[in-house]
Amino acid sequence: MPVYEFRCQECGRLARLTYSFSEYDEATPVCPQCGSEKLNRRIGRVALGRSEEAQMDSMLDENALAGLDEEDPQALGRFMRKMSREMGEDLGDEFEEVVDRLEKGQSPEQIEEALPELADDAGAAADPF
Ligand SMILES: [Zn+2]
Repeated sequence: MPVYEFRCQECGRLARLTYSFSEYDEATPVCPQCGSEKLNRRIGRVALGRSEEAQMDSMLDENALAGLDEEDPQALGRFMRKMSREMGEDLGDEFEEVVDRLEKGQSPEQIEEALPELADDAGAAADPF
């Protein structure tokens, strides 16, 4: 879920509050330090009202992937889980299963073997005949 940043006008503290896009419309941000509702929204990276699609693109750009070792299934699993959290979406049991297995250190090949449906999908995409 996106993090929104506010500057409290009462105590000057920077408050980071997490809301889903739908929650944010309804939310009344309150300073966690002094309880004041006089918070100025700071316009930051996530506060520009970009579409979720654009947000998705930015997560998948090279910066997001920098430092990701594709040979390390556990790092890949953590990355995929982080991505799904940032999207704030339930990507389904199949996704969870894959991430679980990656985090246990299984290679993508092992996972394809264990989950033939995934391999079928991949095969169909690679070879339509
Ligand atoms: Zn305050």
